[in-house]
Amino acid sequence: MAKPPSLDAWRAAHLVERLGRLLRAADFEGGLNPAQREALRYLARANRFSRTPAALAAYFGSSRGTVSQTLIALEAKGLIEKTKSAKDARSVILSLTGAGRRAHDLDGEILLARDIETAGEAGSIAAALEGALARALARRGGRAFGVCKSCRHHERNAGARRCALLDEPLTAQDAQAICAEMEAA
Ligand code: SF4
Repeated sequence: MAKPPSLDAWRAAHLVERLGRLLRAADFEGGLNPAQREALRYLARANRFSRTPAALAAYFGSSRGTVSQTLIALEAKGLIEKTKSAKDARSVILSLTGAGRRAHDLDGEILLARDIETAGEAGSIAAALEGALARALARRGGRAFGVCKSCRHHERNAGARRCALLDEPLTAQDAQAICAEMEAA
């Protein structure tokens, strides 16, 4: 039989659940629903290769049809816009509009991030939770969607960054973004 988790691990899991409940309550603020709020969060953090309806559906673990309803609502509210991909005219790239960025700035998750920063140890908390999330997703057969800088395809050479998988240059901002293709190093 597997060893039971320590009291600290139980406490951390309980705190994650309580914080999640507070965040879920805040998801209804600003005339949005939780799916719309989560889509804004994703689009604010995803890199340019991952801001597509298909990647968003994979991130949510839901169907393209469900995600499409969310995107239609966000576009009608003037919070996102769609542009044709320069590489493939059949694909669209999703972006936040100015109003979308302002709505995202009031997100409960941003306020929580500030609280975590104030509490200290933000880096080690994030690393521990990333590891826990990756294991939980692996159990369910989902994709991890990690941060670009920790991907095995992220190359650095004389200060320049490059994605070896997509053969594209990367900026320092790209390195902090989440990516649908990320594979842990
Ligand atoms: S290095 Fe990895 S995470 Fe970054 S863009 Fe390439 S595939 Fe995505």
